[in-house]
Amino acid sequence: MARYTGPVCRLCRRDGMKLFLKGTRCDTPKCGFERREQPPGMHVARRGKLTDYGVHLREKQKVKHYYGILEPARSSTTATSRSTAAAWTSPATWSASAT
Ligand SMILES: [Zn+2]
Repeated sequence: MARYTGPVCRLCRRDGMKLFLKGTRCDTPKCGFERREQPPGMHVARRGKLTDYGVHLREKQKVKHYYGILEPARSSTTATSRSTAAAWTSPATWSASAT
């Protein structure tokens, strides 16, 4: 199982909010987000507004970064939680679980 080992406060800066990926260090002024609040990159100040797709993608990436999971894992987790949710909400399973 793979995991991201690069600079993590950079991810907070990209997502525009603190994700506390370094634990208590992110409460101190040493956190990368405290030092430079703008997103990583050279000409970020000149970039325009995000599109609807961009906003959606950023939210998705934020969840990914927060829980420290990469794409395939995220999809399989969503798939399992969906099927679990379907099992819980399906009336066919209510009687089966009751008996
Ligand atoms: Zn941080």
